[in-house]
Formats: sequence, C-alpha cells, structure tokens
Amino acid sequence: RTGEALFRRETDFLKGVVAMNGLPPADRVEVCFAGRSNVGKSSLINALTSRKGLARASNTPGRTQEINFFTLSDSHYLVDLPGYGFANAPLKVVEAWQRLLKAYLAGRPTLRRAFVLIDARHGIKSVDNEILELLDRSAVTFQVVLTKADKVKAKDIERVLDQVRGELAKHPAAFPEIVLTSSDKGDGIDTLRAIIATVA
Ligand code: GDP
Repeated sequence: RTGEALFRRETDFLKGVVAMNGLPPADRVEVCFAGRSNVGKSSLINALTSRKGLARASNTPGRTQEINFFTLSDSHYLVDLPGYGFANAPLKVVEAWQRLLKAYLAGRPTLRRAFVLIDARHGIKSVDNEILELLDRSAVTFQVVLTKADKVKAKDIERVLDQVRGELAKHPAAFPEIVLTSSDKGDGIDTLRAIIATVA
C-alpha cells in the first residue's frame, strides 16, 4: 500500500485510552508518535492526516494523559502518545502516565514502530533520553522525525543530523533513517506517509 492510499480516506479518532484494559483490539499494524510537549506533534499529525484540530485533545499540561487512537484506512492505527517533559505537571499525573506508557510499549504486540519527534533546532536532548531508553528496553523500533525544519538554516542541518546520528548510535532500537519535516511548509510529509505505509 502507498502512503497516499493509506492516508486517502479520512482519519477518524477512535478513542482516548487511560488504562491498558481500554486499548482497542490488537488487530492492525500500529505506529505511535512521541515527543516532548511543544515539539510540533499535533501539527505533524494534522499535516499527515490533512485535518485541522485532530490531535489537540491531549495537549493541555496536567490534564488526564490519554493515549489517542486514530484509524488509518482499515489497516493501521496511528497512536498519539501524550507529550512528555512538562516542567510543572503534577507528580501523580506524571507517574500514572509513565506506568501506562511502559505497559503500552512493552505489551502491545501489534506496535511496529514509534516515531519520536525531535525539534530540528535542538537535536536530541536529555529530556528525550527517557523515552528512547524505554523504547530500547521494550524492543520497539523507533525512528526519529525532526520537526520545524523550516526554522533551521540549510547550513546548520548537517550539524543537527550529526548530533542525532551520534545519539542514535547508542540505542539498539533506533532505526537509522532520520526524517526531516516541516508541518508549516509541508516538507517531508509525503515521505513520512510513505514510510508509515511500509511499516507492516
Ligand atoms: P505539540 O505540543 O507537540 O503538539 O506541538 P504543536 O503542534 O502544538 O506545536 C507547538 C508550536 O510549534 C506551535 O506554536 C506550532 O505552530 C509550532 N510548530 C509546529 N510545527 C511547526 C513547523 O513545522 N514549523 C514551525 N515554524 N512551527 C511549527
């Protein structure tokens, strides 16, 4: 299936999940999106699915952190994990979310790849390491998607890519190819759709 075909039909919100027993049946290929809050995750998911306001629900700090499931065609789930790295989220919220995240990543048989969003201006920061290590431990292949590429000058991109490559070399679950995107300009969106379509 091509990326175009996978994203042709309207992407429907299926449900927000707050506990493992709320997960939909593991009956399709699943990809998830993770990233620190404000990295541009909602914008990217909206650009991929050509919808505005689709991935807004889990965006408020301190709110109940839900894992949001969307259906892509009839073959994939696209899963939006809550943004991490809120400085002022209540500890109880953070702990509950980490428990659910760990259980989900370690125990979801149909989860084929995690896309970890990283701001192209900053590269991989210490706030990202926790999720990368969790993905290693859970044996979930992850691929880095750089966001907001339009904010980085062409001459600076290589330096960021080198930093990210250096970090990825430390992670056994890392997929080597890095995807450069701009939700504002539309760069890399078709490429990312095509990559998701190849995940089987
Ligand atoms: P989230 O918290 O990860 O869901 O991030 P959002 O999608 O809400 O984006 C956070 C901020 O970054 C917003 O002000 C967006 O307008 C901005 N943003 C997101 N994607 C891009 C992009 O590709 N280019 C630029 N220049 N800004 C972006």
